Amino acid sequence: MQSLIFDNAFTQRLPADSHTGSERRQIRNALFSRVEPTPVVSPYLMHYSPHAAELLGLDAATCTGEEFLKVFSGNQLLPDMDLHATCYGGHQFGNWAGQLGDGRAINLGEVKTEGGHLMLQLKGAGETPYSRTADGLAVLRSSLREYVCSEAMFHLGVPTTRALSLIGTGEQVMRDMLYDGHPALEHGAVVCRVSSSFVRFGHFQMLAARQETELLATFTNFVIEREFPAIAKTHQDDKSRYLAWFDDVCQRTAKLMVEWMRVGFVHGVMNTDNLSILGETIDYGPYGWLEDFDPDWTPNTTDAGQRRYRYGQQPAIAQWNLLQLANALYPLIEETKPLEDILGSFATHYENQWQCMMANKLGLANFDAEITNRLLKLLTETETDMTLFFRHLADVKNADTDTAFLQNAYYAPQTINADLQAQTQKWLGDYLGIAEQQGQSQGPRAALMNRTNPLYVPRNYLAQLAIDDADNGDFKRLNTWMSVLERPYTWQEGMDEYAERRPEWARNRSGCSMLSCSS
Ligand code: AMP
Ligand code: MG
Repeated sequence: MQSLIFDNAFTQRLPADSHTGSERRQIRNALFSRVEPTPVVSPYLMHYSPHAAELLGLDAATCTGEEFLKVFSGNQLLPDMDLHATCYGGHQFGNWAGQLGDGRAINLGEVKTEGGHLMLQLKGAGETPYSRTADGLAVLRSSLREYVCSEAMFHLGVPTTRALSLIGTGEQVMRDMLYDGHPALEHGAVVCRVSSSFVRFGHFQMLAARQETELLATFTNFVIEREFPAIAKTHQDDKSRYLAWFDDVCQRTAKLMVEWMRVGFVHGVMNTDNLSILGETIDYGPYGWLEDFDPDWTPNTTDAGQRRYRYGQQPAIAQWNLLQLANALYPLIEETKPLEDILGSFATHYENQWQCMMANKLGLANFDAEITNRLLKLLTETETDMTLFFRHLADVKNADTDTAFLQNAYYAPQTINADLQAQTQKWLGDYLGIAEQQGQSQGPRAALMNRTNPLYVPRNYLAQLAIDDADNGDFKRLNTWMSVLERPYTWQEGMDEYAERRPEWARNRSGCSMLSCSS
């Protein structure tokens, strides 16, 4: 582990809370508190990501060794680490919640790498000043879900925080999974997350809410210099630098939303404390993957009533969250117009990129609003698996004969009446006609579609199967699945079970169709 060189700019250049340890407290004029992980009884490695390890220069022998297990379970500290939990606030489900912070995440410090610095963070390693009434721990179930999805998203080409390791603690954690008064013991786990920065919109909001304007400026300057060096270089004037940076954050966030819509990812808890300043997917909790194409679907049981965080509303929520960030930055800029203008361009930016993405999904050279909208309406009306539909549409050459793929994608084939069948047939014919008009012959069309439409996504029920096995100490399925997810756009021999639509048994099983925040 000597290869890890720490250069802890965050903790060296920003003010710390004068107290240490995990006693719960509100902090003032500081970004973080120093706190150490709670040691665990008997850590065991469930999986590590060779791809994330490579970023850190860690080889296979190191990642399967004793020291790795000790360090990434929180049992051993390396000399140059600077352990801390950061302070942020946030709007939860639309309401300002005050101080939140890293309640169960402990940063180990920033490591220098060839590709830049990377913060290492243990999730589930014990209490911090921000744990509020909770225990700072995480269970195997939610840790495996975060671990798998982080790496799957990376391989899908969606911006995301990374995950280095999934380690069981050998300890039991009490959770009321369904919030129905039936708490039970579950295996504890710790994930090591990796990202250049874990700064969220909520960090800025917290400083603004406390009217710590000077620190807000210091922090914003630090984040821009450290994470957006090109903007720091080209904008000497404070205001223009802040605005250029806010514009960049808006654009990254718009891009992220387009990517989520492309692959069918539903975050489930898009609170402002769960939006990364880098435009990465962060905090995998009760997220879910769209199975049948339903824009109103939310995976989060806590959100079932309001459906604030449903698939189709994610871009609008992202914009609302950016508005909250703009409000937090206002004291630095003291003018609303430029902030409003930037926010206003989010919608145009998103729409343009979404159109381009949808054209790619359909293998078209140019976006066609009519054919796209008709399809999305049909998919909604027919309970069709989004992933399977788009993937296999690439193989269709003849609208009359190549329709067998639909049977595979429909969740309830018996409900597809003659009218829906006719509409689908007509759509297929019109679609192929448009592709031809645009000069997209089948070969190039399929090639474009197959690099846009994944075949293997971390489906909710597959996660549950891997969790069931891992809970019994069997990690074979997790292993195989992780290797399949490394090449999501490539058909892999013998791996069809990882590409199948949700089976009926999983329709209403907890963890497969709906997830609670309990983790
Ligand atoms: P979330 O919306 O799930 O990302 O978390 C909201 C807040 O609750 C954050 O401040 C988390 O750090 C905190 N939190 C969630 N689970 C726990 C836990 N088990 N122990 C301590 N804090 C937690
Ligand atoms: Mg969070």
